[in-house]
Amino acid sequence: MWDISSTDSVFRESEKLSDSPKYGCYVHVPFCAGEKCPYCGFYSIRYSPESATEYIETVLQHARSTEVPVIDTLYFGGGTPTSLSPEAISRLITKLKSILPVEDNSEITVEANPETVDNETTEALFEAGVNRVSLGAQSFRPAQLKTLGRRHDIDKIYEAYEILHKYPFSLSFDLIFGIPRQSVRDWEISLDKAIELGPDHISIYCLSFESGTPFADALRMGAIYPVGDDVEREMYDLASSRLTVADYGRYEISNFAKPKCESRHNLKYWTGAGYIAFGPAAHGYIPGPPNWTRYAFPSNLEEYTLLINSGREPLAAVEKLDLQKRSAEFLMLRLRLDHGFSEEEITAHLPELEPAEYIAALQPLIDDNKILLEAGQVRIAPRDMFISDAIIFRAVELTDPYIKEIVTKRKSAGSETSMLEYSTRFRFPGGS
Ligand code: SF4
Repeated sequence: MWDISSTDSVFRESEKLSDSPKYGCYVHVPFCAGEKCPYCGFYSIRYSPESATEYIETVLQHARSTEVPVIDTLYFGGGTPTSLSPEAISRLITKLKSILPVEDNSEITVEANPETVDNETTEALFEAGVNRVSLGAQSFRPAQLKTLGRRHDIDKIYEAYEILHKYPFSLSFDLIFGIPRQSVRDWEISLDKAIELGPDHISIYCLSFESGTPFADALRMGAIYPVGDDVEREMYDLASSRLTVADYGRYEISNFAKPKCESRHNLKYWTGAGYIAFGPAAHGYIPGPPNWTRYAFPSNLEEYTLLINSGREPLAAVEKLDLQKRSAEFLMLRLRLDHGFSEEEITAHLPELEPAEYIAALQPLIDDNKILLEAGQVRIAPRDMFISDAIIFRAVELTDPYIKEIVTKRKSAGSETSMLEYSTRFRFPGGS
């Protein structure tokens, strides 16, 4: 997917960086408190105070040496950021805030796991200016927490909630469904218990069997079984209706929020806004015009540290997006959102295209009622959100001939469409 280039400076080449709207910033904290959860595909290593200290100094050095646009969301994901000591997480956040042009009233999110939430860490987060915490609760059923290999039990979720609730954080819970041997009733209980606690935001993720994880191996060897597509869909539809009744509006396939509690940072991913990144395995996006560029840092703390210490930009991958890729991404990201996209947003993100012609290419899906077109707004029919992958894939296929025609007209060379692996199972940076 990525072209490897360790020498390109994405920031130097991005002429429009300083004129762009507010950016987000993602910081990958690659530590977890113990054994890796067997389903987890995120880059993380076991926490040690020594490597955490070295990591923090490296990230700060990286931030000091990077030209950074104004930021209004700062997101610490992982890994488990709260596996750091209270002093360490406080230093990372406060120092980064002093180095980067972070606006007042920025959204500052930290991912936390229940077993790492204590009074000292929470106080440190609050004092450092964190105003949003995303808690990796994952399930309220002991059997499912065990299957997932989580290090917390249900009591620990309640304990963490009690501590966090004393502070004015906007609180989000992550929940996973489609766990082997999980019944619809199990899922319903988890949902109800999460709703009872009333966090501001709930993210629901369908378990995916990421290649290279013990879960993927177990699946291949027949040691575990997925719950099946029909059950997954039933679980998703159940969650959608339960959460909606409880005043959590769905604004993205996996994300539900009380009014005005949407994640501002994550919305940047789906709406094509820019975000910069720090830390191993982190990736960023610089939108154009003239260049639309994605980049990634190596998924290896030692390599990342070595590159920073030798004064080089630690790029593992850089991809300049051509029109075909931008169009595919536009559809893949925007159609995840409940409100989809408007003609104006087509013009803003794909200025080479004629919005009416682009939308006309989607007519077969509109005729099929899979895509709704209302007052110039294009979106997936709410009842079909769970099968959005298939609809988005078809949308990309349908628009492709029109994009090719434009590319030919513009005499652009070397265009090649590559479907990026976004899906309802795709989680944006961050683990826990
Ligand atoms: S799921 Fe979270 S806690 Fe578990 S290994 Fe992955 S990043 Fe760490």
